[in-house]
Amino acid sequence: MTSQTSDPAALREPSVRAPSSVPVDDAVIPFEVGALDLRGRLTRLGPALDELLARHDYPAPVAKLLGEAIVLTTLLGSSLKFEGRFILQTQTDGPVSFLIVDFRAPARLRAYARFDEARLGDASDAGALLGRGHLAMTIDQGPDMSRYQGLVALEGGSLEDAAHEYFLRSEQIPTRVRLAVGEEWRRDGSGPKRGWRGGGMLLQFLPKAPERARQADLPPGDAPDGEAVHTVADDDAWVEGQSLIGTVEDLELIDPDLSGERLLYRLFHERGVMVFSSQALHARCSCSRDAVEAMLKSFALEDRSGMVQDGKVAVTCEFCNSVYEFTPREAGVE
Ligand SMILES: [Zn+2]
Repeated sequence: MTSQTSDPAALREPSVRAPSSVPVDDAVIPFEVGALDLRGRLTRLGPALDELLARHDYPAPVAKLLGEAIVLTTLLGSSLKFEGRFILQTQTDGPVSFLIVDFRAPARLRAYARFDEARLGDASDAGALLGRGHLAMTIDQGPDMSRYQGLVALEGGSLEDAAHEYFLRSEQIPTRVRLAVGEEWRRDGSGPKRGWRGGGMLLQFLPKAPERARQADLPPGDAPDGEAVHTVADDDAWVEGQSLIGTVEDLELIDPDLSGERLLYRLFHERGVMVFSSQALHARCSCSRDAVEAMLKSFALEDRSGMVQDGKVAVTCEFCNSVYEFTPREAGVE
């Protein structure tokens, strides 16, 4: 395995070493398989994911689905430079009607889900939980940059399906994504403990010659009957890349004892894989008393007055469940 830091001086001198067997949780590892023109990122989430999900008392299927959205967000958002922000949101007609994951580069994550418990029923896979609607991805690189928003329809499929659809239609980069989330029982000093873990991989084919990245054409829609559909065969390197990522098991993605580097080596060692410096991830909300107070004051007086209960105004952050309390005077009601 070859490793590099993102420091340009070090780029010239990659060092070759054995893959580290030490698992590192809550981090994204960028990697490259040069022989196949593949680039990718591998996310492993442990305590940070558990913290994000445990702040809310989600039923397990909802926690798992939100966990998948969080893993997907880390795969897509961790390429942002500087103080960028990446927001993934779904709005659908299923039992889980709204998901939001807010990633602030380089490391902060927060998220929550809205759902209708009475409608959860037997719905367990992502498609049944989400239903139909759309997934939106917003990239905000700061006040001097324009916001970018990508939209993709959700039609009863998984978040992996939605990500593939997005890259096929919007980015036109051959891309495969794998997402896995599960609960782990672990014994520590105080007895058995349950915790959520997540893992994911993004793999992209980025050849120097753009014509090699051409993908099979989309269905022709209103093409006249009998017209031959023009098809393009995938490049051999991309066929190999897809078949390699296709072998990744959910368990490998979330296994707390398998290091990310060992997983990458297991998949790509025949072609040689280079890893770059990993980026740490944290569960950290960006709410603050000052920001909540400013938001309160932006409401009409009538609305603020209606929020006074038991002589105070209490505002709960939907992301982290922190409760901020204000006197009527502080809320500008008196
Ligand atoms: Zn918060």
